[in-house]
Amino acid sequence: MQIEIKNLSYVYNEENPFSKVAIDNISLNIGDREFIGIIGHTGSGKSTLVQHLNALITPTSGKIYIDGVDTEEKSKSKIDIRKKVGLVFQYPEYQLFEETVYKDIAFGPSNIGCSEEEIEERVKWACDLVRLDYENIKDKSPFELSGGQKRRVAIAGVLAMKPQCLVLDEPTAGLDPRGRDEILDEIRYLYDTENISIILVSHSMEDVARLVNRIIVMDKGKIFMDGTPKEIFAKPDKLTSVGLDVPQVTEFMLKLKEKGLDIPTDIITIEEA
Ligand code: ADP
Repeated sequence: MQIEIKNLSYVYNEENPFSKVAIDNISLNIGDREFIGIIGHTGSGKSTLVQHLNALITPTSGKIYIDGVDTEEKSKSKIDIRKKVGLVFQYPEYQLFEETVYKDIAFGPSNIGCSEEEIEERVKWACDLVRLDYENIKDKSPFELSGGQKRRVAIAGVLAMKPQCLVLDEPTAGLDPRGRDEILDEIRYLYDTENISIILVSHSMEDVARLVNRIIVMDKGKIFMDGTPKEIFAKPDKLTSVGLDVPQVTEFMLKLKEKGLDIPTDIITIEEA
């Protein structure tokens, strides 16, 4: 699947004195099987950018094409876009609302006309990917689950749409270190086992350094850097100039380099390196 972003700008409150340019003339191509990390300081425009990818918001100016189709094309339903690009919001568990986990994960597929068998197959498959025990959890209320489990249910609900591209906006926010590592492992597993592109928004350099194949650094609504992790982390001064905290990652990179390793190798922690 191809995503083409052409001269995208987005302004909040365009008509009033509080207007704010959140995205400033970004052009970007995202191809098949990419694993991209978008990093940048708070307010640099990461969330606003990714909300365009499944037409949750539409450009103030510029265009976004998903497999050649303009996301603003009136004849196309937004559902077609959302079948291709799944977006997991920040704190997605706040959007769980059904009385059982099964119904919550099944919500998307039921809305696109899947048969009961197909829905069940998708719910099981999505539970499996995020390591939820289907039999044990399907009839529970989402509200009786732990924070990490709720988040998995929310991610499973997006996966159940079988998107070709999954966008996750700060998927580890607010989780403890163990919960964070588990979610990141699952995301890596998903990338390794499914034919999918993943876009991971994070302010954590460590998270992206150990997972992705391409890093986009944003600053003030623009793309400040775009390259492989190796290329990006070779310029720590540039990263600190836009408020990104890099010492640990740089150290990690240097240690990997000393060992003659390329990154990302696999799930490897800074301690191990
Ligand atoms: P990030 O995800 O990198 O933290 P955002 O995309 O959330 O950045 O925000 C980009 C800019 O747009 C920031 O200056 C932010 O204050 C502003 N912004 C975000 N959401 C809104 C909104 N709903 N109304 C007005 N301004 C907003």
